[in-house]
Amino acid sequence: MAKTNIAVIGAGLAGLTAAKHIRGASVDVYEATDRIGGKLHTVAFEGGPTDIGAESFIPTDVTRAFVEKLGLTGSLVEPSDAPTMLWDGKELSLIDVPRTTTFRHGLQELTEKLAEESGADIYIDAFISGITRATDKESGKEGFRLKGGEDKLYDHVVLAVPAPTAALLLKQVDADAAQALAKVKLANRVVVGMRFATGEGLPEAAEIRIADGADGAQGVHTESFVFSSQRWPHLAQRAGALVRATLNAEAHADEDDLVDWALDDLTKVTGFDGRAAGLEEIYVQRWFGAFPEATDANKAAATEADEMIAQIPGISATGAWVSGPGIPNVIAHARATADEVPTA
Ligand SMILES: Cc1cc2nc3c(=O)[nH]c(=O)nc-3n(C[C@H](O)[C@H](O)[C@H](O)COP(=O)(O)OP(=O)(O)OC[C@H]3O[C@@H](n4cnc5c(N)ncnc54)[C@H](O)[C@@H]3O)c2cc1C
Repeated sequence: MAKTNIAVIGAGLAGLTAAKHIRGASVDVYEATDRIGGKLHTVAFEGGPTDIGAESFIPTDVTRAFVEKLGLTGSLVEPSDAPTMLWDGKELSLIDVPRTTTFRHGLQELTEKLAEESGADIYIDAFISGITRATDKESGKEGFRLKGGEDKLYDHVVLAVPAPTAALLLKQVDADAAQALAKVKLANRVVVGMRFATGEGLPEAAEIRIADGADGAQGVHTESFVFSSQRWPHLAQRAGALVRATLNAEAHADEDDLVDWALDDLTKVTGFDGRAAGLEEIYVQRWFGAFPEATDANKAAATEADEMIAQIPGISATGAWVSGPGIPNVIAHARATADEVPTA
């Protein structure tokens, strides 16, 4: 008997996790960009691979077991004891945050392993612009065709793309569900990854978060600094000091402005003059639709859209907009979604 044909749209963490866990079917994964991973994005800095999207995750028992099953436990690295601090616009104070873990060679280790173990055909540079219902002329079998995909009838489609994209894709399949999805709003962020010749003068911290709306923080675009070389012993071994600034800034802003804001904010918050320290490497990543907005209204919109999609035979949805953005949540939801995909 021919295997069930499943299409997964989106090769971010959700899509790759789902593809890995769908059993007994022929799975095609479509990815619009030229790389897998989505918001897990490890780039080549001179000293080695460096994450410029998500950088670590809270190791729940479930994620540890998941990593173990992938044979990646030996790649996990533990953070140093450097503290996380909060800047209230005037001074720094210690805050308690959960310890996280990451992979020695970056989060790409996870996405590459998932892709490899999925056994799926993964098409990159494959932008899917629509889904339509279709019937096979010979067998009369009903299914879906993908605009931008292979010439195939799919029995089931897993949407593993951000909500606004899922809305566009579903328009012709279920206009009401598409409308509900369009109400889920995403927030943009920019990550500026920097390597300074020296970290002398940086505070002894793993991270500094900027208090929301703090007096004295007007004009500060950065919402957090991660002092990667201080947080991660394996990165401390590299030359210089790696610092990443996450900016809650206009993602379309000019690249030079984004870098200037990150450097100016670093000086304002820590007193460290990055320009004088020697800025040796820099990577600016604009994240359009970085996260679902964390408002109650947005969560309600996501729940409503999710419930509507659950009523469409042959379609399922997963990804940060429905699971919540944390890596453990994304993995758990994608696995549960894969388990529900009928493959008999
Ligand atoms: C800056 C930043 C820092 C973060 N830090 C952390 C962290 O430290 N810890 C943590 O737990 N979480 C973190 N997160 C959250 C976490 O990275 C994300 O929630 C998670 O990676 C989202 O995975 P996803 O598969 O749902 O979506 P995505 O990663 O967005 O994947 C969706 C994929 O679909 C593709 N796609 C879109 N449209 C189409 C189309 N039409 N056709 C084909 N493909 C398409 C996209 O190109 C993308 O590859 C961070 C996120 C950001 C942006």
